[in-house]
Amino acid sequence: MLALHGTGVSNGVVIGKAFVLQRDLPDIPEYAIPREYLDDEVTRFQRAVEASRRQLVTIREHIPANAPPEATSFLDAHLLMLDDKMISTAPAEMIRQQQCNAEWALKIQSEILSEIFEQMDDPYLRNKKIDVSQVVNRILRNLLQQNYDEHEKMAEGQIIVADDLTPADTVMLKHNRVRAFVTSLGGPISHTAILARSLGIPAIVAAHSATHYVNSGEELIVDGKRGMLIIAPDRSTINEYRRRQKDIVRQKRELNRLKTSRAVTRDGRRISLLANIELPADVRAAAQAGAEGIGLYRTEFLFMNRPEPPNEEEQFRSYVKVIKSLPGKPVTIRTLDLGADKQVDGGRAGAAITINPALGLRAVRLCLHDTSLFRPQLRAILRASAFGKVKMMIPMLSSQEELYRVLDLIEETKSDLKRERVKFNAKIPIGGMIEVPAAAVSADLFAPYLDFFSIGTNDLIQYTLAIDRVDDAVNYLYDPLHPSVLRLISITIQAGKQARIPVAMCGEMAGDPRYTRLLLGLGLTEFSMHPATMLEVKKIVREAHAGRLTRFARDILKVRETRQVHTLVEKQSRH
Ligand code: PEP
Ligand code: MG
Repeated sequence: MLALHGTGVSNGVVIGKAFVLQRDLPDIPEYAIPREYLDDEVTRFQRAVEASRRQLVTIREHIPANAPPEATSFLDAHLLMLDDKMISTAPAEMIRQQQCNAEWALKIQSEILSEIFEQMDDPYLRNKKIDVSQVVNRILRNLLQQNYDEHEKMAEGQIIVADDLTPADTVMLKHNRVRAFVTSLGGPISHTAILARSLGIPAIVAAHSATHYVNSGEELIVDGKRGMLIIAPDRSTINEYRRRQKDIVRQKRELNRLKTSRAVTRDGRRISLLANIELPADVRAAAQAGAEGIGLYRTEFLFMNRPEPPNEEEQFRSYVKVIKSLPGKPVTIRTLDLGADKQVDGGRAGAAITINPALGLRAVRLCLHDTSLFRPQLRAILRASAFGKVKMMIPMLSSQEELYRVLDLIEETKSDLKRERVKFNAKIPIGGMIEVPAAAVSADLFAPYLDFFSIGTNDLIQYTLAIDRVDDAVNYLYDPLHPSVLRLISITIQAGKQARIPVAMCGEMAGDPRYTRLLLGLGLTEFSMHPATMLEVKKIVREAHAGRLTRFARDILKVRETRQVHTLVEKQSRH
């Protein structure tokens, strides 16, 4: 039995069998081939290339409709590489000339290619080295008769252990009914982690070297709350965790009783609890948790796992589906937040590989850069607004000019629709996400042009503390209770109050029960979160006294030691 510690990013306990997604290059044997068998060796190599091609074509055909386009575009690139002489012919020549085995010839050829790419000036082309090694890896596995398809397919009912998973991989988990996942890398607010919470599957990230310690088929326990991975547990540990699973089921049953209760504090403050969703199918979980509406619809996930972006009509239909499944309830549709770790095709509109993608052409910046992507979405959202209480929300605003440009585009779109006699709500509320420190500090300057704010703490923390949300090396610095973060949240809530516009929070902090009391004290009245923690948050709201918490939050803002803030917030959460 061995225990590894990582960061628990999605609660729950799962006991099950491991499935290790191994993407490393296998060990390569080297041996001489007698002259009379050289033709056979070349044929063996060519068969492995053909098998690789068939596998890629099959995978391509089975990509779910809502899989990220990058999933298809990388497969196309790999198929093209298989046709390239450097990969398909050069190793065969080497087998004959050097009388060596196919694996060795391929390895040598891949080193030659890697060197060529390494010397390229263009960083984009230099990066292609990774694709080459993935293609070589696939042929090698076929030569070594390791069933590569097994590695592509995330197994149903198992626990995935991988070095890293992209958000696109995580979307695929949904289709394969994976029970839990553990990654060696990653951070708690990466979109991969957020998706795990939305799928409701326990997950641990930053469990270093997990792929080295775990073998496929081995029994594992994943404790998503404590971030603990237990490999090959003994009987008594399994029994202990089975008891814990029963406790979790019992607690869930108790919380379920609160589903229809109102979220009101003991002193009568009404709180809105809304849900974050990624896909229309997530509405079910939101309704089951008794959400009062959708506070964040991350529309970019509709653009993933597919070769072409959805057109206006498809976007419109998805939005209407969500609206109609929550009759009478507000649905806050966020405009596209693509870029950074949510890449669609790895280089849309010729965008170069950026050094700092989180600081690059992302979200509203990308939308304003490529309005051919943005305009159809604006039309789709506006058209959908005729079907219910739709709000539109703009992510990652950092300058007023951006906001003015977005508002102009919305006005233009409205005029077009009016001219075309298409129905929409002319008074659709337009909100801005406050997730860049610049926007928080100058929230009062944005307020006059907006109908509401929504604080995106995931990015606000990333940008305030200068920590990449997907980089586990700086994970330890991630701290929602850092005084700078709390001050920015407070500034935003106060600016909203002054301007008399509602302020919501839709970052992960809003759904973390450890912070509910503090946020109530800071004056937050709208919390949007993944449905998984909604009832726990509601329980805290119903037991809280908002007036007392206001004094508590005021004191917290005065504390000069971050450690002290942690101690006090923890103490308060035990009350
Ligand atoms: C946030 O940044 O807090 C947020 C809600 O947006 P996302 O996590 O999608 O970047
Ligand atoms: Mg964000």
